[in-house]
Amino acid sequence: MQVTAESVWGECLKFVKDNIQPQAYKTWFEPIVPVKLNSKVLSIQVPSKFFYEWLEEHYVKILKVALTKELGEQARLVYIIKMENTFGNKSPFTEKIPSENRGSIKSQEVDAPLKNSHSELKNPFIIPGIRNLKIESQLNASYNFDNFLEGDSNRLARSAGIAVAKKPGGTSFNPLLIFGGVGLGKTHLAHAIGVYIKERSPEKTVLYISAEKFTQQYIEAVKKNNRNDFIHFYQVIDILIIDDVQFFSGKSGTQDVFFHIFNHLHQNGKQVILTSDKAPVDMQDIEQRLLSRFKWGLSAELQRPDFETRVSILRNKLYRDGVDISDEIVEYVAKSIKSNVRELEGAIISLIAQSSFNKREVTIELAKQVVDKFVKNTKREVSIDYIQKVVSEYFQMDVSTLQSKTRKRHIVQARQLAMFFAKKFTKASLASIGSQIGQRDHATVLHACKTVDNLSFTDKQFRKYVEDLSKKLSI
Ligand code: ADP
Ligand code: MG
Repeated sequence: MQVTAESVWGECLKFVKDNIQPQAYKTWFEPIVPVKLNSKVLSIQVPSKFFYEWLEEHYVKILKVALTKELGEQARLVYIIKMENTFGNKSPFTEKIPSENRGSIKSQEVDAPLKNSHSELKNPFIIPGIRNLKIESQLNASYNFDNFLEGDSNRLARSAGIAVAKKPGGTSFNPLLIFGGVGLGKTHLAHAIGVYIKERSPEKTVLYISAEKFTQQYIEAVKKNNRNDFIHFYQVIDILIIDDVQFFSGKSGTQDVFFHIFNHLHQNGKQVILTSDKAPVDMQDIEQRLLSRFKWGLSAELQRPDFETRVSILRNKLYRDGVDISDEIVEYVAKSIKSNVRELEGAIISLIAQSSFNKREVTIELAKQVVDKFVKNTKREVSIDYIQKVVSEYFQMDVSTLQSKTRKRHIVQARQLAMFFAKKFTKASLASIGSQIGQRDHATVLHACKTVDNLSFTDKQFRKYVEDLSKKLSI
């Protein structure tokens, strides 16, 4: 077989894949493209400078082993950094060869002028003296890195956060976008970065603001004819942290002004940190040009913490509060509450409160009661599939019977009840309910809802069905 860049890299990948976590493989190795093979020198293309730095820091050993296996002791690896959308960088490609001192597969450094990619532009807007203006950072010091526990679910985001905090504006994570579901630690991490920077460099202007507040301020500014002052204010900030940028969706005026502020800060090597409940690809009603800016840096996801991480978050919280609770109970709570850290904390806090107010010892029974209440109180959206399952079971028929075209009265009723509860318990549209329950149209669903309403007034037996099913469905 002919040895090509692809074939060599393919073999290396096999080796790497066997030796690292699947998630890490996906994140750090799948995006790499083999470019050329020149005798013993393999060139691979990586999407950013950060990517290169990360590979060098975390995977250089394994790469070395893999490559040596394929090409022998003389093997060398050259990274080609594909620079997209970088200001003031004429060539889209920059070659970078691993540094010697880290014991990597070595060569001399061929370093293109990466560092100058943020040229120091003079800002015509900065009013002399404005730098002396004191800007309150709005940071919450109790959200820091020390108490942001690390786990597989947050390792990338946390490490990227630390990298940014150590060198704001000086890494390729600009902007750093932290995204993930509710209660997974986005706000905490965003504050932690700001707190870290402020502690080490008090002279830096750091500002934390929610996207919502930013929007309100902007609307106020426009009303008062102060749009320019608003922009100037934000342009003098060194580290701008905007929380929950999904709030900008559909607000084109705010997006526009943020776009200008962002460009200005970015061009001047200032750091921007954003959080969002969605990945950039899933953000709706955000202008394309803004989305493309979000993708310039690094988007790091916070995922749901695994069991071990949940246990360590709980232990840490108990430790800090000086409370002692047995491992059995901690593990029980961690097992029962999986979806987010906020709920996890909420449960442990109410457990502690229960035990101290009522002077009760924390037993597994008490933990069960508290967790039960907690899990019940957190609204879960039932799915249309689940509704159909519950209704079919209740009437002792198959889901396929419920969905069938038959006009038999008891089946029609079951189907109408399923539609009625789908309308009541989900946010789905009539059309979508119809298409999921036996391919009916929206008018049929509407008719079903009305029929159920009417029948539960006039028919006692039918009312009982509705009550029973309501109970079963409102978990
Ligand atoms: P989000 O902004 O994503 O909705 P928050 O940052 O408000 O979530 O986090 C919710 C709660 O969970 C906060 O009290 C936060 O301190 C805590 N939390 C989240 N992740 C962690 C973690 N890895 N370690 C410790 N506490 C965490
Ligand atoms: Mg938040």
